[in-house]
This record gives sequence, C-alpha cells and structure tokens, in this order.
Amino acid sequence: MLEKNILRKKILDFKQINLLDNLKIFSNLQDVINSLSVPSDQEIGAYYPIIYEPKLLSLLLLEEYNISLPKIINKEISFLPIDSMKDLEKSQYRSLKEPKINKISNPKIIIVPAPAYNQKGYRLGFGRGYYDRYFANTNRSLVKIGVCYHQFLLEYIPHQKHDVKMDFIITEKKIIII
Ligand code: ADP
Ligand code: MG
Repeated sequence: MLEKNILRKKILDFKQINLLDNLKIFSNLQDVINSLSVPSDQEIGAYYPIIYEPKLLSLLLLEEYNISLPKIINKEISFLPIDSMKDLEKSQYRSLKEPKINKISNPKIIIVPAPAYNQKGYRLGFGRGYYDRYFANTNRSLVKIGVCYHQFLLEYIPHQKHDVKMDFIITEKKIIII
C-alpha cells in the first residue's frame, strides 16, 4: 500500500530519543501487565529492539516474567523462550538477534514493537505483515500490547482488512486502552 510506504519513509526522520523514556514506557507497561492480574512468572512475548523501538528487553529480563522472543522460521514468527541475552544469536534479518533455543512457546501476552501506531491501536510495521499473520493464525486469546515512543504515536495510519488492532498502546506519556 503506497500510503503506508510513504509514512514508513517519513518516520525515518525521527528526533532524538531520551533514554529515560524507556524507563517510563517500562513503568507504564508494568502497570498494564499488573492490571491483567496474571501470575508474576507469566509467559510474555517481547522483542529484540531495533532503531526506533523502545529498549525494554534488559528491564523485562530483570523481572520474574518468562520472556520469549520472535524468530522467523519458514517466513512466520515463532516465539522462543530466553533466560538472558546469552541465549541470543545474530539473525540474518537487519541488526536483529534471535533466540538460539529450539523450543516454541505460546505467550498469551505479546508486547508488539512498531515504527508507529495510531490512537485506535493500528500498527504500521515494516511492511512484511509478520505480526498480522501471527495474530490471524493464532486461536489462543492474546493480549496485544503495542509500545512506541510518543513521537511515533500518529494521528493517522491507513489500515487494511488484515491489520490486527492492539488491545493497549503504551508510550512514555500515555497508556491507551483500546
Ligand atoms: P505491516 O503490518 O508489517 O505494516 P502490512 O500490514 O502492510 O505490513 O502487511 C504486509 C503484507 O502482509 C500484506 O500486503 C499482506 O499481503 C500480508 N498479510 C498480512 N496479514 C495477512 C494475513 N492474515 N494473511 C495473509 N497475508 C497477510
Ligand atoms: Mg499490518
């Protein structure tokens, strides 16, 4: 979709990111997770951050959650558990790292990074639709938590039929319950 590609290029002109914003987003994220009343060792799908995605992974690993990260296997996202950064290896995809562990997990809470979101919970990804397909192909009920820096919370993002909405959007300034 041309409109999405124009937006993807536009957000490359991003401003400086304040490292403190990661702590604020993490604190908002913990508030949302606590509000779900799940056990503290809950399985949570997180991500290895690239460029403009909030850096939350080290903070999450310090908590009691069981963290899984995405790995692209046969062109689909799978979530694999990790205990520490040592369980990661370089991926062929961008500057990403992926879990080495060969075990699939099925997190019910998924923290979804994005170059941009809108207030209605729609996500502008990198244009490969990995998360949309993962959500469409999963029949577990999932809590989808979108995270981005506030400057990437846009007024308008075009969306298509296959685009899956988040249940929460979190920035350093806001928690939006969809
Ligand atoms: P992103 O979500 O990464 O921003 P898009 O929403 O533009 O990317 O989706 C990219 C492509 O992924 C779509 O053009 C579509 O072909 C494919 N796609 C997304 N969801 C599905 C789905 N549920 N089934 C099949 N293909 C899908
Ligand atoms: Mg999409």
